[in-house]
Amino acid sequence: MEVTRRSFLRGTLLAGGALLLKGGHVYGAGQEEQVNGDDWEPAYLRLEREGKFTQGIEEAYARLEHCDICPRQCGVNRLRGEQGLCRNAERVVVHSAQPHFGEEVPLVGSNGSGTVFFSNCNLRCVFCQNWPIAHKGRGRAIEDEQLADEMLSLQRRGCHNINLVTPTHVMPHILNATRIAMQEGLRLPLCYNTGGYEREEMIRLLDGIVDIYLPDLKFMDAEKGERYLGGAPDYPENAKAAIREMHRQVGDLQVDERGIAKRGVVLRHLVMPNDVSGPKDFVDWVADNLSKSTYVNIMSQYRVEHEAFEYPQISRSITSEEYVSVMEYAKEVGLRNLDERSLSRLNVHRRNR
Ligand code: SF4
Repeated sequence: MEVTRRSFLRGTLLAGGALLLKGGHVYGAGQEEQVNGDDWEPAYLRLEREGKFTQGIEEAYARLEHCDICPRQCGVNRLRGEQGLCRNAERVVVHSAQPHFGEEVPLVGSNGSGTVFFSNCNLRCVFCQNWPIAHKGRGRAIEDEQLADEMLSLQRRGCHNINLVTPTHVMPHILNATRIAMQEGLRLPLCYNTGGYEREEMIRLLDGIVDIYLPDLKFMDAEKGERYLGGAPDYPENAKAAIREMHRQVGDLQVDERGIAKRGVVLRHLVMPNDVSGPKDFVDWVADNLSKSTYVNIMSQYRVEHEAFEYPQISRSITSEEYVSVMEYAKEVGLRNLDERSLSRLNVHRRNR
């Protein structure tokens, strides 16, 4: 606890005066609103000028004392080293931090997305594609200052954003590290890359800090959340409420002149075999609750991992027919900002049918 609080206080003391950067954007053609990259600034700079950033960090850190950061609401004192279901105690654990080129094109640009993979997770998906990191916790426990250094290093390497993978359970540390890095010159947008099991209340704490939200919406009904997400029947209701709040904050995706994401929601849905993920309900929900211009990535790369082979409904890859059916439905409903790689995959799967 001491070190973390010290980190926080150091960040507070380092706070400088007003950061006088210009803002504003222009509107371009295409599916995404276009912003002027020269004038763009990350949301957290404005929050800092308004004197509200510190307050959000304090509030987030206080939550760790009886942890209710995510819907599991374990109530453990993580500041004293106790662990809840996510198995993450007081310090942030990082598996890796590097430029990544496998994300959606607007996030990757020419230099990559500055991806920080956090270890541990508040979801316990039986089909986890990342289980050595998320379930086994492989990684290195570091201080918030070191996380700030990793962010700055990714910026120096030319990355277009700080892509925080599985951030939910370490959200307070991320806020603190972002502020420390901001004092040292961080100017990249934060990309909050979450499995979607979030409390709407916690997402409200990120208002004015996160520019890009990259959530999954994995399942559409409670029974699937109970069975496949480590006993989380409340996953759909929490994820939907959180994603609506994300969209309220940042809206549809905005890009700069080079097509690089600056702000907005990029929403993912992994198609699973036998329609267990509810892909058509997902499409209907997006159209009815967000906007038909939402950037949506309907993903086809499901593979049988971790414990999935023990669950007959999800113990195979998807068929081309299953993928084509969902993508064609998304087009029929009028979703008009489908990820370009997913459209390429659609063509491949059409040929494979
Ligand atoms: S973040 Fe971890 S400890 Fe906190 S409520 Fe969620 S699962 Fe429990």
